[in-house]
Amino acid sequence: MLESVFKLAKLVEELQSEPDQHSFFDFLHDSQCWIERTLSGVLDQSIPLETQEQQMKLMHELKKRQSLVIKVQSMGGKLAEENFGNKDLCAEIRKQIRDIGQKMSDLNEVVQQKMNDELRTFRCGHTERLDRESSLRRISDQFCSSCWPLASQVQANKLCQDGDRIRRTPVTADNEDTAVEYYKISDRVLRYALKEHNIKLEIRSIEKIKNPVLDKKLFNVYNEMHKKDCVPELLFHGTTRKNAEMIIQNGFKVGNSGMFGAGIYFATDSTKSAQYCRGTGIKSLLLCDVLLGKTMVCDAPKTSLTLEQVRTAGYDSVFARRNSKKKGGVLNDEYIVYRAEQATPRYLIKFGSECSIL
Ligand SMILES: [Zn+2]
Repeated sequence: MLESVFKLAKLVEELQSEPDQHSFFDFLHDSQCWIERTLSGVLDQSIPLETQEQQMKLMHELKKRQSLVIKVQSMGGKLAEENFGNKDLCAEIRKQIRDIGQKMSDLNEVVQQKMNDELRTFRCGHTERLDRESSLRRISDQFCSSCWPLASQVQANKLCQDGDRIRRTPVTADNEDTAVEYYKISDRVLRYALKEHNIKLEIRSIEKIKNPVLDKKLFNVYNEMHKKDCVPELLFHGTTRKNAEMIIQNGFKVGNSGMFGAGIYFATDSTKSAQYCRGTGIKSLLLCDVLLGKTMVCDAPKTSLTLEQVRTAGYDSVFARRNSKKKGGVLNDEYIVYRAEQATPRYLIKFGSECSIL
């Protein structure tokens, strides 16, 4: 679609020195159709604006189309000058120039509004506005921020009665009770697999993890967060198969070092984390509930960051924003917490992998 806009823009440019009526109305018609198609696509969501990539793609196309429309408008302007004797034609051209400009700005407004209006729906049935500052990928659909404190309390009490036994439930596509969950999690893994990581993820199994001891710690640490209206987010953590089992049994351990200090690192892109699933054969990827609390955005590395510094600054976690590589930052979103209690493994995804290039 973009290439055709480029070609059109070039054609219009060539024609601008000798504008003719037919090509002006042709180009005008092309842009009108594109605007109408895009508008209805955005409204009926056949043009999704769910991820940052999708949004950026549409913004890019809008920009290209905008510059084409400006060229067509100036072509119309010249055409009107050359035909100033033909009053009807001039009036029609001027009207069309105004209309297409108006349509373009209407479309821009709708797209902007759509992007700001995305709501996330939680299992409790409530909705909350999406946080546009951070990534959309970390969504967990458990409870909204007003239900979470109570729900976590109920859950913690229930866990006390159930004992501390770790429960691992297979989540499969052919079991009626788990099929929806299976597709939700596998979609989450496959949708955010990035080509540039050259890892082809083949999901072999998904297990739901409940470690009551870790869950209780997660619920308790909630009370110490700087931000009160927060819920745990689902994020990926990649490590060796052996380490993944240790984490399921005993929880996370804060690392010794890293780009953003000694913390526990999580990603929103499955393949980003899968890079750390070292070893041969079947590998283990964890999808974890992570309580981010108030998040400090970092665009450049801070290898000496500590829990104390982060907390003193009034934050509970660090968000290394994607596409900040130029400033020394990262290519893919990363979230870092500095207390082991802020994360608990929720799903264990076993996968086979092959490098798609090698
Ligand atoms: Zn709720």
